[in-house]
Amino acid sequence: MKLIILGSGTILTQHARNCSGYLIDDRLLFDCGPGIWRALGMAATDPAEIDHICLTHFHVDHVSDLQAILMTRWLTGLKKVPLAIVGPQNLPEWFGYLKKLHGPWIDDLNLKLYPADRSIRINDRLEIVPVNTEHTEYSQGYLLKSDGESSLFYSGDMDFNTKLIDKVRGTTVGLLEASNTEETKIEGHLTPRLAGRFAQRAGFQKLILIHQYPEVLEIDAVEEAAAEFEGTIITAEDGMTIEI
Ligand SMILES: [Zn+2]
Ligand SMILES: [Zn+2]
Repeated sequence: MKLIILGSGTILTQHARNCSGYLIDDRLLFDCGPGIWRALGMAATDPAEIDHICLTHFHVDHVSDLQAILMTRWLTGLKKVPLAIVGPQNLPEWFGYLKKLHGPWIDDLNLKLYPADRSIRINDRLEIVPVNTEHTEYSQGYLLKSDGESSLFYSGDMDFNTKLIDKVRGTTVGLLEASNTEETKIEGHLTPRLAGRFAQRAGFQKLILIHQYPEVLEIDAVEEAAAEFEGTIITAEDGMTIEI
């Protein structure tokens, strides 16, 4: 399985990274933050191959480029390719706002909405399982299963959540947010150290740190996470391709 990091940053501009966007096997996109639609073009990825987009929550740093994707579909033949959009249970309500804002063409884009409260099979091999992250009322992360094995857990935004540990236990790779340092930690987000603790307790083999605010880029986030996690740790950077 191939993971391309389209955006590993936050809404702040100081570190010149795109916001959240993670592409699996050129067809499954986790989140659509500002900058990732253009990054897809830079990665020479064919947008017609993307048939599933999974949104974790509706904070702008995770969803704003979905509007760019929708407009591209409206203007081009891309709308001939069916696209499934998976999201929190208030996904239809959020789309209702988009329609009010942009107009009825939103209904004519060959989309299928899945306000997901259960797993969704993408093909014979891949299945996505939404898990509640409690970052916002309906926010969810995604556990990606490949041939029945838990391969990847994408946190979206989340705080340290012990209820989640059992649900994602034994996953190979954790793609976990690490927004703040221990000194600047805010509720609803992890630090590198807490990401390491979560990865260790969940028995991950590899931890990829994402969604880091500028102050985290000034510390050794890998060393911080390594104080709690014995597996492999890397810090994501935009444009990275990682084999899972
Ligand atoms: Zn958020
Ligand atoms: Zn965020």
